[in-house]
Amino acid sequence: MKQSLTEQYEASFRDWLGVRAAFAFFKGRVALYAALRGLGIGEGDEVIVSGYTCVMAVNPIMYLKARPVYVDIDPNTYNVTPDLVKTCITERTKAIIVQHTYGIPVPVDAIREIADGCGAALLEDCCLAVGSRWKGQIVGTFGVASYFSSQWNKPFTTGLGGVLAVNDDGLAGRVQDLCESHLVQPTLRENALLALQLAIHKAFIYPSTTAMSQEMFRMLGRTGIIVGSSTPGEFMPEMEEGFFKAMSGPSLRTGLKKLQHLKANQVHRKRLTKVYDEALRDRGFEPLQVHHDADPILVRYPVRVNDKNRALREASNKRVELGSWFECPLHPKETNLGLYGYSEGECPHSERASDEVVNLPLHPRVSDRTVRRTVEFIAPFLKASDS
Ligand SMILES: *Cc1c(COP(=O)(O)O)cnc(C)c1O
Repeated sequence: MKQSLTEQYEASFRDWLGVRAAFAFFKGRVALYAALRGLGIGEGDEVIVSGYTCVMAVNPIMYLKARPVYVDIDPNTYNVTPDLVKTCITERTKAIIVQHTYGIPVPVDAIREIADGCGAALLEDCCLAVGSRWKGQIVGTFGVASYFSSQWNKPFTTGLGGVLAVNDDGLAGRVQDLCESHLVQPTLRENALLALQLAIHKAFIYPSTTAMSQEMFRMLGRTGIIVGSSTPGEFMPEMEEGFFKAMSGPSLRTGLKKLQHLKANQVHRKRLTKVYDEALRDRGFEPLQVHHDADPILVRYPVRVNDKNRALREASNKRVELGSWFECPLHPKETNLGLYGYSEGECPHSERASDEVVNLPLHPRVSDRTVRRTVEFIAPFLKASDS
C-alpha cells in the first residue's frame, strides 16, 4: 500500500530519532497541545515549564486550563536544573516540560527520575535541539514524548511544521485517535503561500539579508498576505478556531528532503561552533561552557552583551544577523505576563538573560567568513566573563 506524504514523513522522523511513533503537525506548538491532550492534562493540573521560553510553548497549557509553573534557569546553560525543578513539584504536578535551550542539553536523566518519583509525565521541548546528546543519548528520547519545530528559525526548516515523537504506545494511540477525530487540514491558500515562501527562502535568504527579510515576512504576516509563524490571536491564552492543524504538503515534502541532509547540517553547526569558540577566545572572551556529559548541536550561539538594544540596532544597520530571543521570560516582549501567571521577579536569571543575551547564526548559509565578521561586530559589546 502506498504511504501518504504525512505517513512517509512521520515514519522517516520516527526512524531518524528512534522512537515508537511520530506525528506531524502544522507547528511545534500544536504537537505540544496533542501531547498534553493525550496525557489528559486539564483544569487544576500543574505543568512545569522553563521560565525562559517562548509564549507559544506555554499557550497549549493555558488552552487546557492547566497551570504553568515557571522554573528559573542556570545562567550558564540557559536551562532548568534538576534542583530547581525539584522545588516546584507539588501534588498537582502532572507534567514536566524540559526545554533544551539553544540546543544545549538539559541533565534530562536526573529530571526523569524526579518525574518518575512524583508520577508526572516527562516531555522534552526539542524545538531548538535536533541531534544534541546527553550522556551519549539523543535528546527527544528521554521522556514519554518530545516535540520539535521546523519553523523558519529552527535547526532545520520546512517553513512551518512540528513533530510529536512518542515513546509510549498508550499515548501514541490516544494521539492517533485525537488526530483522526479533530485534526483539520491547512487551507489551499495556506499550502500555496507556504510553497511560495519556501521558494523565496531558498532563493534569497542569506545572513546579510536575513534581518531584512525576517522583518518583511513579519510585516506581511501581520497583513495576512503570508502565513506568519503566529497569528495575532496566538499571543493570547485562548485557543483559536483551526489551531489543531496538520502539517502542510509543501512543508512535508521539504521535511523529507531536509531529514536526508540532517547529518551535513549538524556537522556544519558543530564545526562553526568551534570557529565561534576560537574567535571569541582570540579576543579574550570565554566561549560557551557546557557540562562534560553534554554534546550539543546548537541552533544559534548565545552570548551576553552590555547593551542589547544598541547591539541589535547597529547589527541591523550593518546587516549583521543577530538573534534576540528570548526577549522576556515568555518571548516576545509584548506578552502580557500577568495573563500567563508569571509575576515579575519570579525567574531572575531568566529576566537577566532576556536583557543580555543575543544569539549568533549557525544555519546552513553561514560561512567561516560570516562567523569572523559576526564576532568582529559583537566583540565590543560582549560582557567580560567574570561579571
Ligand atoms: C519555536 C519554539 C516553539 C514553538 O514552535 P512552533 O513551531 O513555532 O510552534 C516551542 N518551544 C521553543 C523553545 C521554541 O523555540
